[in-house]
Amino acid sequence: MKYLVIGSGLFGSTFAYEAAKRGHKVTILEKRNHIAGNIYTKKIDGINVHMYGAHIFHTNMKNIWDYVNQFADFNNYINSPIANYNGEIYNLPFNMNTFNKLWGVKTPLEAKNKIEEQKNNLNLPDNPKNLEEQALSLAGSDIYEKLIKGYTEKQWGRSAKKLPSFIIRRLPFRFTYNNNYFNDQYQGIPIGGYTQIIEKMLSSNLIDIKLNTDFFDDKEKYLNTGYDKVIFTGMIDKFFNYQYGELEYRSLKFETEEKNIDNYQGNAVINYTDSNTPYTRVIEHKHFEYGEGDKGKTIITHEYPQDWSRDKEPYYPINNNRNKALYKKYVELSKKENNNVIFGGRLGQYRYYNMDQTIMSALQLVKHEFNF
Ligand code: FAD
Repeated sequence: MKYLVIGSGLFGSTFAYEAAKRGHKVTILEKRNHIAGNIYTKKIDGINVHMYGAHIFHTNMKNIWDYVNQFADFNNYINSPIANYNGEIYNLPFNMNTFNKLWGVKTPLEAKNKIEEQKNNLNLPDNPKNLEEQALSLAGSDIYEKLIKGYTEKQWGRSAKKLPSFIIRRLPFRFTYNNNYFNDQYQGIPIGGYTQIIEKMLSSNLIDIKLNTDFFDDKEKYLNTGYDKVIFTGMIDKFFNYQYGELEYRSLKFETEEKNIDNYQGNAVINYTDSNTPYTRVIEHKHFEYGEGDKGKTIITHEYPQDWSRDKEPYYPINNNRNKALYKKYVELSKKENNNVIFGGRLGQYRYYNMDQTIMSALQLVKHEFNF
């Protein structure tokens, strides 16, 4: 079989690797000037810089953890972000360290009582109508004002009073002194960065990669060049020329800079939770690999959330009823019109996938395609 894969991100590359392993020929079109999609890391000053935002691999699926470990050795990095609220520093996720700093409480019982007291002091309706009421009813006023409100409003570009309550269904309170952000059993960062994973996946001589090549520049030609199947990991609404309308996304802007200092902020991820600071996070990349990099240099990235428009990168699908219904219409259209085109990955399936879910979803397609 001859496959055409659009996009060299984790989804397209996992599929290409598995297809080539079985003796199939794969051509990959990639519109960027590099492989690896959003997990792309680039070495600057000896530091592996996460060019499209901080990426921490975490999973509970042992088979996916074993699978990804074929392509890289992982360190034992544990994500423990810090919140900076107008210069006050708190540990995340919300845990005993956070509660101690907020209120001086020392035991889980004292912390629970304090949260209850904060909630009871508010006169909230039984059914929260918006995100603000929902968060207040779950966390009380201090946590909401200092650690949720500003950050969430910046992320979504809207007042918490205008955001739907379902965005926050529950809050991850932890009544232990444990700053590990994730609950998953397996977690780490590939030593030497993520790009090597994709390089190894695409190293077969049955795989031909064409960089700087946008499928939409000559869609009809590519669809009619004699490929048996097309795996498309770009935007499904664009594939169909937005004929039912645009799906919505949130975008991000990254500003990366070099600093002539060994250690700028002492942690890989710091969230800015006040509403005056325009960015949501500052990443200091060397801390993902325990300070690996040139002496006296560090690389930091400011992350700014943005509205999406067609000239911007679509990072996060917006999972509301309108978009769910619209996506379903495109899926129905794809079944009717393009039987040899398979839509996959975060844009093709309009779904927020973590890396482990992306690999799992690509392997499901492999299973289906090659009948095993
Ligand atoms: P992508 O990586 O987007 O790959 C799609 C590729 O297709 C891109 O290279 C694109 O250029 C190319 N393409 C699109 N259209 C065309 C076209 N028309 N022609 C040619 N090429 C095209 N996951 C975690 O597990 N942990 C994390 O900490 C984490 N952090 C994240 C932080 C951010 C800011 C973001 C946005 C995501 C994060 N993720 C994280 C999710 C992770 O990035 C995804 O799971 C993964 O990258 C999805 O791979 P993909 O192949 O589906 O998509």
